[in-house]
Amino acid sequence: MFRKLSLKMTFLYGIIIMITIVYIDFFLIMKYEDSQFYKNELEYLTYANIFGKIIKDDISNVSSLISKTEQYGEGIDGRILVLDNGGMVIFDKYRSFVGVNLLNKEIKKSFESKNEARGYYKTDDEYIMMITTPVLQVNEVVGMVLISTSVTHIKEDVENLRNQVIGISSIAVVIAIILSIITGSQISKPVRKLTSASQSIQKGILNTKVDISRKDEIGKLALTFNKMSEELYKLDKNRRMFISDVSHELKTPLASIKALIESLINGNNDIDTYNEYLKDVNNEIDRLANLVKSLLTVARLEEVKINKEPIELHNEIQSILKIVNPLLKEKNINLINNCEKDIDIFGDKGKVREVLINLIDNAIKYNKCNGNIEVSCTQRMWKKSIRVKDNGIGMSEKELPFIFDNFYRIDKSRQSDSGGSGIGLFIVKRIVELHGWSIRVNSKLGEGTEFIIDVK
Ligand code: ADP
Repeated sequence: MFRKLSLKMTFLYGIIIMITIVYIDFFLIMKYEDSQFYKNELEYLTYANIFGKIIKDDISNVSSLISKTEQYGEGIDGRILVLDNGGMVIFDKYRSFVGVNLLNKEIKKSFESKNEARGYYKTDDEYIMMITTPVLQVNEVVGMVLISTSVTHIKEDVENLRNQVIGISSIAVVIAIILSIITGSQISKPVRKLTSASQSIQKGILNTKVDISRKDEIGKLALTFNKMSEELYKLDKNRRMFISDVSHELKTPLASIKALIESLINGNNDIDTYNEYLKDVNNEIDRLANLVKSLLTVARLEEVKINKEPIELHNEIQSILKIVNPLLKEKNINLINNCEKDIDIFGDKGKVREVLINLIDNAIKYNKCNGNIEVSCTQRMWKKSIRVKDNGIGMSEKELPFIFDNFYRIDKSRQSDSGGSGIGLFIVKRIVELHGWSIRVNSKLGEGTEFIIDVK
């Protein structure tokens, strides 16, 4: 029906306000009117009943009745009549009906039911209330008291009140509609902004921000939207950087392979040169294979779920030791497993193994011959940590913030034979984060490096 949120809200508020006002104006005022009439009726009925009781013994003694009626009827604001049991008027405050037979609806009803009755009449300029009460002597109707009085003042009071309420209500409706238009536009304006920003993102314009500074839910939504758009932009930027890094990393070994093969094709080489060149080609192919393997690991990391199980760290390190033993021997490096026994962590066994292998492999790769490596696991209260410490070549402080970035390698010349692609620590950090843990590094150039994983 309404395509705009503000119109919808204005309409809805309008309806709610109208219903409230109609309820107040009609039902409550009607109730007020009824209660005023009821109060008035009660007052007159009480009076008529008392009066009936006073005159019940004088109903056949007209002169005593007249004197009593004049005496007690003085205080009443209205016309008081006393009828005999045939309906003839014996007393009339205004005297004009004396001797007249009156038999209207209320009188008849009171005679028949032996009970009081009431009715309302409208004359040209007045509202009249008529009340009848039978005068009873031992359950026999011997006469009737009739009081008629004007209730115009009550009608006027109620009418005045109704006019005032309608006046105030109309002003309230106008104010409410203006307010609902203002609030409606206050809500729909930022929603429109958010919609147009979302459309921009849909079109590929990432990092689109909305300029909404409010402290309510819409403000929070805008803040979340801005953060989301920023994250999307960063993700896209990283994705593009990653593709360009991968291309670059693939290009270098491919170019070397091509150069080596071309020089073999063009030159007149002996078998030793062929062997030497083919060895280089083989190394470059190994490097490519390693790179592709790492890339596959990165890709799989984003898809595969973490399956946590208890891992006994001391044994895990012992089994890794067997794998890296040939590398250790090559450089005559001494690796000590200083893990306290029976420390269990809860993690994905395969992935935790990958982390440890990567860190130990780096500690070997970036170590000197005859160097030392210490792997330790400690538990202090509920805090568990794993440390891989070496006394190798170390890193300078300015490099440390970047070593966990993908394809980041420090000064490529110092590790020409390491075969690293700069993805290892990136994978380590991702796995650690996927577990909800954290990793930090302490290192000094020429002195050594220590990686610490804080397990939660
Ligand atoms: P790579 O495959 O090149 O080893 P990593 O991501 O594992 O890539 O490491 C990134 C860089 O951090 C490496 O190029 C290396 O220079 C430095 N690095 C990592 N571990 C150590 C270490 N234990 N000692 C010194 N330098 C290290």
